[in-house]
Amino acid sequence: MADNANLITVSIVTPDGQVYESKTPMLIVRSINGELGILPNHMPVIASLAIDEIRIKQIEKDQEDDEIAVNGGFVEFSDNVATIVADSAERQNDIDVARAENARKRAEGRIQEAQQKHDDAELARAQVALRRAMNRLHVAHR
Ligand code: ATP
Repeated sequence: MADNANLITVSIVTPDGQVYESKTPMLIVRSINGELGILPNHMPVIASLAIDEIRIKQIEKDQEDDEIAVNGGFVEFSDNVATIVADSAERQNDIDVARAENARKRAEGRIQEAQQKHDDAELARAQVALRRAMNRLHVAHR
C-alpha cells in the first residue's frame, strides 16, 4: 500500500455539492490542451477541463480505476490536493444510461435541424449537448 505522503487527495465539487472525495496515487484528467496525468508532488497546476472522464487510480493495484464523467470546469492542484470544480459530475455507477441515450438522440435531432436551418449558434449548443451525452455513455461503458 502507498504511504499517505505519496497520495493525492482528490475532491470533486459541483453546484450540487461534493460528489467525490478520495486519496489516490494518480489521477488523469483531460484539459482543453490535452491529457494531464498528476502524480504526488507534481508542480502546482490549474487547467480548464474538457467534457471528458476523470480517472482516479486506486491505492490497491488490483482495483479498477474510479471513472467520473465531468462536464467542463477546472482542476487546481497544489500541495498534493486536487480540487475539481465542474458544472456536473457523475460517478460511473450513478449515470442513468437511458437518460443519456435520450439526450444523445435529442442532440442528434437538434444537430440535423440546425444544419438544415444553417443555425450556427444552435448547432454549437447541440454539439456540446451531444458531447455531454456521449461522455456519459462512454464512462458508463455503453
Ligand atoms: P439532460 O438533457 O438529460 O438533462 P444534460 O446534459 O442537459 O442532460 P446537465 O445540464 O449536464 O444535463 O446536468 C443536469 C443535472 O443532471 C446534473 O446534476 C447532472 O449531474 C445530472 N445528469 C444529467 N444527465 C445525467 C445522466 N445521464 N445520469 C445521471 N445524472 C445526469
